[in-house]
Amino acid sequence: MTFDQFLWSEIDRIKAAGLYRELRTVGSPQGAEMICDGRPLVNFSSNDYLGLAGDRRLAVAARGAVDDAGTGSGASRLISGNHRFHEALEEAVAGFKGCEAALTFSSGYAAAVGTLPALFGKSDVLILDKLSHASLVDGARLSGAVVRIFPHNHLEKLESHLRWAREKHPQAKVGVVIESVYSMDGDLAPLREIVELKNRFGAWLFLDEAHGVGVLGERGRGLADALGLAEEVEIQMGTFGKALGVAGAYICGRASLRDYLLNRARSFIFSTAPPPSVAMAARAAVELLNSNEGEILVARLREVRGTLAELLRFPGADSAIFPVLVGDERKAMAVSERLRKAGYFVPAVRFPTVAAGSARLRITVTAAHTREHLENFVRALEQALREE
Ligand SMILES: *Cc1c(COP(=O)(O)O)cnc(C)c1O
Repeated sequence: MTFDQFLWSEIDRIKAAGLYRELRTVGSPQGAEMICDGRPLVNFSSNDYLGLAGDRRLAVAARGAVDDAGTGSGASRLISGNHRFHEALEEAVAGFKGCEAALTFSSGYAAAVGTLPALFGKSDVLILDKLSHASLVDGARLSGAVVRIFPHNHLEKLESHLRWAREKHPQAKVGVVIESVYSMDGDLAPLREIVELKNRFGAWLFLDEAHGVGVLGERGRGLADALGLAEEVEIQMGTFGKALGVAGAYICGRASLRDYLLNRARSFIFSTAPPPSVAMAARAAVELLNSNEGEILVARLREVRGTLAELLRFPGADSAIFPVLVGDERKAMAVSERLRKAGYFVPAVRFPTVAAGSARLRITVTAAHTREHLENFVRALEQALREE
């Protein structure tokens, strides 16, 4: 078989399974209304929950930083790439989250695959929720730790894994890895109960708030803060690319965690620092969230999600994510395609992002959607599902 034959036969197999993916080309800023493949679409697919990705204030911050610092950072943070703008962002994050310190990474993926292997190794145990994001799964695998998976939000199974870990690996460090809001289902972790369990068994908790920051809690500080549990979470992670509208991610907690990770997290050490302008745009987003404006934006998002919940007659969780389960991969694709023709961008999420046979439409709302957007969309959605 030639290289080209190999590629084409695999692509054919992906297509035959209804799992083929293609890029769409955006020709406008992010927002509730976008130009996608040359056509205007109302966007229900984005994680830009507060509508900040296209916000002028963030663009001004980035532009000012480009004027000051240029485009590139030149080297990794530990060589000569550590601009004062990176540190300004980390101070802003630590202040916003009420942590001693934060360390930033170029993406959430990099934060996860850098942090988990830095903290856990071959003689340790990591226990993950079944629906954990791929970056957490990959980080756990890369660490070489013994990995145990518990069914989604299943506290009894988590407890039995913790007991097993303590009995079979008495010397091991034991980590529990969860998200605050699950990205494809939109539901929340039972954080209070999980904190109680991990404390009882002396395990450490890694909490990924990628879809919680900017959405949950006062000024969008996330689930741990909303429940008054931030102090109890050893490792908090969040990203700047979703509700904060920029790119990158942070790990925050004790000052010692920051010092340790910048010595041990390979994705931090062996990667060029993000552009200083990106750090300044993210800092502007964090400061915005930490102001009265943040309160207004988060309240606006809650109002929009409440309106959609009412229109869909589906309460959902407190997140901005509404899954509409279709099941069959091809059928989900067909509904998504029909919505596109009607002027709405709603992705069909399929295996391997979700389990095979549990394909769904993943609807996300943002503070930038109007009531009219929502009302028209729900009508189009009902029709697209009826035609199936
Ligand atoms: C998006 C996401 C990530 C990855 O973050 P990026 O900045 O996009 O690399 C990690 N964890 C969860 C739960 C996510 O949804």
